[in-house]
Amino acid sequence: MSKEDAFRNLIAHCKEYGFIFQSSEIYDGLSAVYDYGQNGVELKNNIRKYWWDSMILLNENVVGLDSAIFMHPKTWKASGHLDAFNDPLIDNKDSKKRYRADDLIEEHMEKLENKIDREVEKAKKRFGASFDEKMFRDTNPRVIANREKIDSLNGRFVKAMNNNDLAELKQIILDYEITCPVSGTRNWTDVRQFNLMFATEMGSTADGAMKIYLRPETAQGIFVNYINVQKTGRMKLPFGIAQIGKAFRNEIVARQFIFRMREFEQMEMQYFIKPGTENEWFDHWKNVRMKWHKALGLGDDNYRFHDHEKLAHYASAATDIEFNFPFGFREVEGIHSRTDFDLGQHQKFSGKKLQYFDPETNESFVPYVVETSLGLDRIFLQIISAAYHEEEIQKEDGSTDSRVVFNLPPVLAPVKLAVLPLVKKDGLPEISRRIMDDLKYDFNCQYEEKDSIGRRYRRQDAIGTPYCITIDHQTKEDNTVTIRYRDTMEQERVNVRQLRNIISEKVDMSSFLRKLDHD
Ligand code: ATP
Repeated sequence: MSKEDAFRNLIAHCKEYGFIFQSSEIYDGLSAVYDYGQNGVELKNNIRKYWWDSMILLNENVVGLDSAIFMHPKTWKASGHLDAFNDPLIDNKDSKKRYRADDLIEEHMEKLENKIDREVEKAKKRFGASFDEKMFRDTNPRVIANREKIDSLNGRFVKAMNNNDLAELKQIILDYEITCPVSGTRNWTDVRQFNLMFATEMGSTADGAMKIYLRPETAQGIFVNYINVQKTGRMKLPFGIAQIGKAFRNEIVARQFIFRMREFEQMEMQYFIKPGTENEWFDHWKNVRMKWHKALGLGDDNYRFHDHEKLAHYASAATDIEFNFPFGFREVEGIHSRTDFDLGQHQKFSGKKLQYFDPETNESFVPYVVETSLGLDRIFLQIISAAYHEEEIQKEDGSTDSRVVFNLPPVLAPVKLAVLPLVKKDGLPEISRRIMDDLKYDFNCQYEEKDSIGRRYRRQDAIGTPYCITIDHQTKEDNTVTIRYRDTMEQERVNVRQLRNIISEKVDMSSFLRKLDHD
C-alpha cells in the first residue's frame, strides 16, 4: 500500500474509532479545525500528562502556569508578531489556489533531493556490493548538477527570506519554473505578506471596543508573567515556566490533517538563564527533549535535528526536532535560544522593570531565555501515524485473517484494560464487574460483553488497548483469567490478584518517568 493510502486509512480510522472528528461536521466542517472524540481526548490527556509531569516533576526549578488566551494588544506589538508574524502568500491565477511561497520553494528543493536519492538508488542496484556511495555522489555529473542547483537555490531563498524580499521570492519561483500542483501553470500573482493572527474585538462599540488578538503562541503569556512567578515563587536563575494551552494561527494553507491547524495546542517551556550561558542550556534542552521523544519507542531512526538557517525575529539559534511522518520528515518541536528579546521588548513597551537581581554578583539584568515548544496535536499525529498498522495474521488452522492495530505506547493508550466475560450468563458478567470495580481506580478500563470474543479483541486492538482479560467458567473455580497482549496477541492464564502488577508495569506513568529520568 502506498504511504498516501495508508495515511488516508489512518484518517478514516481516527473518525471510525472516536479519535478525531472534523469540527462542525454536520455543517460540512470548518477547514483545519478538528475535535477530539472519546478516545482521542484520553490519548491527548495522556500525552499532555507525559509532557507536564516530565517538566514539572522531574525538574525542581520548572513551575507551571495557565495564562489567558486574550492578552493586552500591546503584547503583540512588543513581541513583534503584529509586524513580523507573516507568511509570504502567492496565488495561482488559473487554479485560484493559494500557497505559501516559501513552501513552494522548499518543496521544489525536496524534489531535487529526491532526484539525487533516486539516482543513487539506481546506481546502488547496478553496481551491487562494490558500490561506493560517497564517490558516486561526489563525481556523478547528474548528481553534481542537481546539488549545485539546490545550493544556489537555497542561497537565494535564505537571503530573500531574511531580507523579506518578496519580489525575489517570486523571481525564484519563476526562474526555477515552479508550477502550480493543481493547474500545472506558472501564472502566478505577486508575493504578498499575510499576518497569521486572528483579530477580534473586546467590549461594546459604544464603550470604544478594543481590537485584540487570539494568541498565536502561548510563550508571551509566560513572558508577561515572568516577574510575577519569579517574585512569588522566589525563583533563582536558572528556572523555567511551563504552560499548555491553545494557540491560533490563520494558516494560509492548512493540510495534512492535524499537522497544520488553525486552532491548536502548544506545550511550551521558557527557561530563564544568565546571559552568556545560552549555548550550554540550548544544548542541554536539545538533548533532554530528544531523549523525551525517543523514550516513546517510536523508532530512534525516525527522529532528527534540523538547524534553522533563517531565524525567527526573536532567535539567536534554533533547531527543530523532526519526525518521519507518512509525508516525510517534518517539525514536531522547536528549540529556540530567544536571548533577552522578549523580556527586553516587554520592558520597553510596558515601562515596567523585568530584571533579575543576582545576589551573588549584586547585578541586575534582563535574563536570557531558551524555549522548548511542542505542538500537542502534532505529536498526537506523530504517535498515531507510527502506531497504526494493518496486519495479516496467520491463524492456528492455517488460514489468514487481518487486523488493524494501534500499537500505541501503553502508557499513552486511551483504554488500558478491557474486561470481557466470555458469555453473558452463568455469573460471568458479575465476576467481570467485580474485577473492573477493583481496577477502575488505577486504570481506564472498558467493559464489553457484546459479540464474539474475537470481534471484541479486534475492537480493542483498533483503539490500542494493551491488555484484554477474559473471564470464563474456569475463573469461577480457580480465580484465574486469560490475559491477552495486544502487540503479540499472546495469551496466558493468570490469577486475578496478579492483574494490577502486570498492567501497572507497562502503563504506569510514574514508572515510565522513572525510566526516563534514570536512562
Ligand atoms: P511551521 O514551520 O510548521 O509553521 P513554526 O516553526 O511556525 O511551524 P513554532 O512557531 O516554532 O512553529 O511553533 C512551535 C510548535 O507548535 C511547532 O513545532 C508545532 O509542533 C506547533 N505548531 C505550530 N503551528 C501549528 C499549527 N498550525 N498546527 C499545529 N501545530 C502547530
